[in-house]
Amino acid sequence: MNIILFGAPGAGKGTQSKILIEMFNLTQISTGDMLRDAVYKKSELGIKVEKIMESGELVPDEIIFSLMTDKLSQNKSNGFILDGFPRNIKQAIKLNEITKEMSLLIDYVFHIDVDEDILIDRIKKRAMEDIVSRKDDTSEVLLERLKVYNGATKPVLEFYSSKNQLITINGMGSIKDVSGKILNVINKDLEVD
Ligand code: AMP
Repeated sequence: MNIILFGAPGAGKGTQSKILIEMFNLTQISTGDMLRDAVYKKSELGIKVEKIMESGELVPDEIIFSLMTDKLSQNKSNGFILDGFPRNIKQAIKLNEITKEMSLLIDYVFHIDVDEDILIDRIKKRAMEDIVSRKDDTSEVLLERLKVYNGATKPVLEFYSSKNQLITINGMGSIKDVSGKILNVINKDLEVD
């Protein structure tokens, strides 16, 4: 089972991703984690992307394409969850090409939908509680990431919606509520099969 998970910063995408990974034994493919690892190791790639990531902007598509092509071609798991990719239309088109070439099927495209005022409240609360663990998790950068999400990533939701592939999940309940809704969709299919 292969899944794409969308969600604005603060929508709970990481938390839901973890639940799905454990439940279905999926491999997480997170471009953000791969890039952070490169920054941590101070590799050539890491040095190139560090400042961009700190600002909340997107790193160049060519870098992401190369990371993703490598990762997907090495993938031998019984399923993966794409977390943080595709982030713009160009990346979505590229993903289509890669999956076709590799004969991979995307089974679910979930969007964890949270109202923007709630996201902004969460962002401000996080800043007040001072639980910032990443350099791009300050309220200032989070607001920038939200802007980038609205500008570049929201059109990707429309892209999948126009192909009737997008499943929007109301992300405003508790963690359990939200995961319950996602699991309902998957389990219904599993029962039918
Ligand atoms: P994330 O952990 O997914 O929130 O990503 C953290 C940061 O890594 C983003 O703010 C971007 O700077 C960069 N990044 C992650 N994934 C992508 C992507 N698919 N395209 C461009 N930049 C990305």
